[in-house]
Amino acid sequence: MKAIVVERGENTPSLIETPVPEPADGEALVRTLRVGIDGTDFEVLNGNHGGFPAGDDHQIIGHEAVGVVEDPNGTGLENGQLVVPTVRRPPEGSNEYFERGEPDMAPPGTYLERGIDGAHGFMSEYFTSPEEYLVTIPDEFAETGILVEPMSNTVKALEHAFASRSMFDWSPETALVLGNGPLGLLTLAMLDQTVERSYCLGRRDRPDPTIDIIDELGATYVDSRETPVSEIADVHEPVDFVYEATGYAKHAFETVEALAPNGVGVLLGIPEDWTFDIDGGRLHREIVLENKVILGSVNSHLRHFESAKESLARVPDWFTDDIITDVFSPINAEQALSSGNNRIKTVIEFDTR
Ligand code: NDP
Repeated sequence: MKAIVVERGENTPSLIETPVPEPADGEALVRTLRVGIDGTDFEVLNGNHGGFPAGDDHQIIGHEAVGVVEDPNGTGLENGQLVVPTVRRPPEGSNEYFERGEPDMAPPGTYLERGIDGAHGFMSEYFTSPEEYLVTIPDEFAETGILVEPMSNTVKALEHAFASRSMFDWSPETALVLGNGPLGLLTLAMLDQTVERSYCLGRRDRPDPTIDIIDELGATYVDSRETPVSEIADVHEPVDFVYEATGYAKHAFETVEALAPNGVGVLLGIPEDWTFDIDGGRLHREIVLENKVILGSVNSHLRHFESAKESLARVPDWFTDDIITDVFSPINAEQALSSGNNRIKTVIEFDTR
């Protein structure tokens, strides 16, 4: 079968031929339909994130997949069922996080991530997976199912944000999404039904397809070159909820200033090291005196994937059409995994039979 891999010492993808994997007991064989590409895939290619599967000189990349069960292999799945795989797997046997069904809360070193850290991903014609890590999806998600994984990350982040305010009556009316990449835009669409007013931060000039989507969702575009995050409260309004998806480290701290009293900021971006000055005393005081929360969130578990299916069903068709901008065949993997003007979500399509 064809597989898109990164070889040791390389930072561009290669298309290789490799045997179709044999499902072990409890695993199904899945034929891949589509795999989405995100910023983490670029970090994996550049060697900045994760690591190779033990003993292998290459890693099959890709972690946002949708496929169809080719061989249920004695599992409870049915031939032809559409599925989305989750990402984290236990390193050996299992551990308490996986036993509790909460691999997303496992600390580094206690999990593998398919396509990212220590395990092969899904960017190949077939992959195998234990049944418990496959989420069934309806047939109409054959093209959009690649969005379930990133949306599940937002489902988890929102769940933690709401849980942190669950001791009092907290009904957010306003939200600010930092970042107009795929994760930011998916979140903006998901928040559409939750808040009355939303803002989305970027750093691009109009015309731009991401700003068109922000407009179409009825949100307000904020250009960070004109209005830094620390000034949004004055220029627009303090917001109840901030979702950071820029990976721009200063935003983690400026979020405190953008929040209204009792607000929550959830950070998802994964920045590199960066040393800079902040007025830590003022921010600390503001967090305490205004009952603010800043929390980090990574990955998601099965329940979040289930809920993300519902979120995907609720976003309008024009939105999924507009966000999936580029579809490439596996032979054009190098082109797919390079940056391109006006791209939002790029997809590798293996098959849609
Ligand atoms: P992208 O890199 O595609 O999007 C980030 C967006 O933020 C880009 O559109 C970029 O603008 C914008 N941006 C960056 N800096 C600024 C700034 N200073 N002012 C305004 N806009 C800015 O990433 P994704 O959408 O895929 O993911 C977002 C972040 O979340 C990444 O850091 C990613 O690693 C992380 N992530 C975390 C997960 C988790 O579970 N915690 C899961 C998935 C992703 P431009 O394009 O114009 O440069």
